[in-house]
Amino acid sequence: MPTHYAIVPAAGSGSRFGAEMPKQYLPLLGQPLLYHTLAALCRCERIARVWVVLSPADEWWQTYDWSGLGAKLETLFCGGATRAQSVANGLVAAEIVADDEDWILVHDAARPCLAQAQLVDLCDALAGDPVGGLLAVPVADTLKRADAAQRVALTEARDGLWQAQTPQMFRYDVLRRALAVDAGGPNVSHTDEAGAVEAMGLKPKLVRADASNLKVTYPADLPLAEAILRGRGE
Ligand code: C5P
Repeated sequence: MPTHYAIVPAAGSGSRFGAEMPKQYLPLLGQPLLYHTLAALCRCERIARVWVVLSPADEWWQTYDWSGLGAKLETLFCGGATRAQSVANGLVAAEIVADDEDWILVHDAARPCLAQAQLVDLCDALAGDPVGGLLAVPVADTLKRADAAQRVALTEARDGLWQAQTPQMFRYDVLRRALAVDAGGPNVSHTDEAGAVEAMGLKPKLVRADASNLKVTYPADLPLAEAILRGRGE
């Protein structure tokens, strides 16, 4: 049976959020946001190890107590200039234990509300899958394409459109090849792992999730994340 491992790229500056500290360290129910993200993965029995990829210049990590997350968690100070490079660097560190057929779940640091049921659904839906896939949600809103003056240029058909979330789960060997790990990392900056896998001509599976697995991107997202976690009694 393949082993499941998780990689959490957390080396971003969170510039869209506009806070003084990187957004992964913003306080959420008395812990840094990243704590909740890592806790969801560490507490899942399916996952053997969790690597968090931090910037080599990260000065925040050491100022918090992460011991409550247990022995599965390993810290890597090897973040790169882009998310894809941070993940590629994490894959290099994973090679000591990961076999080609093992699963790697890449999960955004900024998604602290991942539910255990969604995580288990993803693993179950992809068990035995030749490609892998990701959590995603069908688009509910009508989509408008803007012109340069921020006026509607056209209305996009939303049929068949999904919003990609994380975790994104692929075989170790597939992800290594997709992110060109052996060539020093990706030269195209894919915004998610599925994009890199698609560029190899493969078709990742969409596993239906829901909007509670939100990505904290703007200040208004933080109280929402708090409400979701509180609603679960966390
Ligand atoms: O900026 P964005 O929210 O799209 O970042 C997605 C994830 O990638 C975040 O968890 C962020 O910390 C991470 N990241 C990274 N290394 C970078 C840029 C982003 O690990 N150079």
